[in-house]
Amino acid sequence: MKDNEYEQENSGTKVARIYLNGKVEVLRNIHFSCSSCGLCCRLNRIPVREEDILRFQEHGFELDQLLNDLSPVLIPSKNVDGNFIKAYILRKKPFVNECIFLDDNNHCRVHEFKPLACRLYPFALRRENDETVIMQIHSKSVCPSVKLDVSEEESNTLELAKQMYKLFDLEE
Ligand code: SF4
Ligand code: SF4
Repeated sequence: MKDNEYEQENSGTKVARIYLNGKVEVLRNIHFSCSSCGLCCRLNRIPVREEDILRFQEHGFELDQLLNDLSPVLIPSKNVDGNFIKAYILRKKPFVNECIFLDDNNHCRVHEFKPLACRLYPFALRRENDETVIMQIHSKSVCPSVKLDVSEEESNTLELAKQMYKLFDLEE
């Protein structure tokens, strides 16, 4: 990842340590399989990075149209210099608290190129040091489909961490 925008505070439940060479250390046996309930597309504010905007453009979105689909927000700068930086979140549908890209069947209309935050959810990646990244459950997860402390047989932590690695690798 180019910057730290998607790295969460150190308050989410850690589930795996991912090394930059692709090795994975499972820290917690969990099971997750998305049930497409759409909750995260309703309850969350979805941050959109510059790279996400570029990906949207590569798939035919005009910048003007896209900016119309985004709400600008000001967030405190990481430099703790008292300044704010401009960022974007996906706009919600008018009068309905859900992402503009969620269809009536709880499917994402931009699934193939949705923002990284959506692709990682309900997990987040946090750089631990130069060698490792921690995969953790999003600190504000609303997802009902994560089961904690399942048996090793039931756990798919390893598989999920490998998927996260691919996403992380692609964004490097
Ligand atoms: S972009 Fe897609 S996955 Fe992300 S919040 Fe919107 S509908 Fe959900
Ligand atoms: S809240 Fe969890 S199960 Fe529901 S759509 Fe989001 S990731 Fe999938």
